[in-house]
Amino acid sequence: PKDIFSPRRNSHGLPLWDDTTRGAFLKDVHGALERGVSAAAMVAGKPVAGEARTVVSPHDNRVEVGTVVEAGEEAVEQALARAHAARHDWDMIGGAERAAILERAADLYETETARLVAIIVREAGKSLENAIADLREAVDFLRYYAARARAEFAGPVIMPGPTGERNEMRLHGRGVFVCISPWNFPLAIFTGQMSAALAAGNTVIAKPAEQTPLIAVEAVKLLYKAGVPEDVLHVLPGDGATVGGRLIADPRCAGVAFTGSNETAGIINRTLAEREGAIIPFIAETGGINAMIVDSTALPEQVVRDLVFSAFDSAGQRCSAARVAFVQKDVAHRVLPMLKGAMEELKVGDPLDYATDVGPVIDREALKMLNEHKSRMAREGRILADLELGADTRYGTFVSPAAYEIESLSMLKREVFGPVLHVVQYSADRLEEVCEVINATGFGLTLGLHTRIERTVEEVRRVMRVGNMYVNRNQIGAVVGAQPFGGEGLSGTGPKAGGPHYLYRFATERVTSVDT
Ligand code: GLU
Repeated sequence: PKDIFSPRRNSHGLPLWDDTTRGAFLKDVHGALERGVSAAAMVAGKPVAGEARTVVSPHDNRVEVGTVVEAGEEAVEQALARAHAARHDWDMIGGAERAAILERAADLYETETARLVAIIVREAGKSLENAIADLREAVDFLRYYAARARAEFAGPVIMPGPTGERNEMRLHGRGVFVCISPWNFPLAIFTGQMSAALAAGNTVIAKPAEQTPLIAVEAVKLLYKAGVPEDVLHVLPGDGATVGGRLIADPRCAGVAFTGSNETAGIINRTLAEREGAIIPFIAETGGINAMIVDSTALPEQVVRDLVFSAFDSAGQRCSAARVAFVQKDVAHRVLPMLKGAMEELKVGDPLDYATDVGPVIDREALKMLNEHKSRMAREGRILADLELGADTRYGTFVSPAAYEIESLSMLKREVFGPVLHVVQYSADRLEEVCEVINATGFGLTLGLHTRIERTVEEVRRVMRVGNMYVNRNQIGAVVGAQPFGGEGLSGTGPKAGGPHYLYRFATERVTSVDT
């Protein structure tokens, strides 16, 4: 198979376990926080004026992270006009030049590690390690899509000309791409969408999640610094309907990339369908009710390690996270007590504390929804574990990690985006049925499988309609360029982020045939 990203170069991590490294890094992080962050929507490189709103940290709402001036209708109109006017020039500079700019941006992100990580930790409540991973993934996206742009958007593909004609095929940007990103990977997904759209030759209006505007504006400043022309990129933090709604309804918007909830994806899809004129591409990556299947040949210790990580890392706020474990009855008596024991070791608290395993959930609304769900599960299912919270819940949106045994998957009506795991027991002869039940949810994002029978791996792989299947390991943290990520069915439209086909969906193909 052809290796399209060789030599592979992913952004490196930090050895935080080393006290000296960690101490020095934390000092830089605190220094960055003390300087504060003031952000504003940026149209053509200029911050918009207006009243600033304070952004507080989910782990403690008394901690002010910074301020943001959000975009209003006027900023939306200006951004559309500027991005629309700039679209041909940006497309025509070609893939190689765009790649060079994105690679410079990747380097700039890495030189700003402490500041970017500090903002992610405080604004999104992500743990130190998660925030570093978020930054690394963002850098990987920049470099990967740059490499793809160089390979595919730099020159024409010469097609056969059997009748003596010269046939050339070229990939072009579509025009203005609107990128709407979530708060759970406030830098990685924000950067991934934006850099893919830019690499393919589109101008971009980025609309970050309402909860995480600061890191988004910070990232866009680095892209300008790297050389993205001011008219080519605009960032509009603000209200979903005022900003996102207006952007996608406008005829100048030529494509939409979205990661977030199924509900919002549905709204976007309907809005686009109601627009007059051309049918425009919509790239959506949405939720999942992800399962991990554990049969009796699996190693319980390994299962528990991978399950706990898949369900509770990032406080379960990943669309890839394990939501339900199907455990074969014969081993449940070994796996479940071990699961409870491992969960009791989880430390919930301030994400800047290196010992913290589970940070806060994003906001009060998420907290309320999760606690309501937990109450329902406690009534309708059986509590396997519900940790006592050590964290201060007066000011922070902490949810205690919990696991419930339930009778059937049908008890989960929708994605539960937080640190809550569900367990269903199944008997050995029912594996096929388990696969059917998981497929029947309509979601198809990640699947974990723990088994030591190779035939089972093959059988499950054959029937399961999921985008990413992980065998005998955890099921989160897809690596750019190695594990292209994204689902099918209710989980998204594809193409896969961090994969070789992603840029195509942001592009249009043109062919020139010249009689020679
Ligand atoms: N790519 C991430 C992972 O593999 C999940 C992205 C998301 O939550 O949207 O864990």
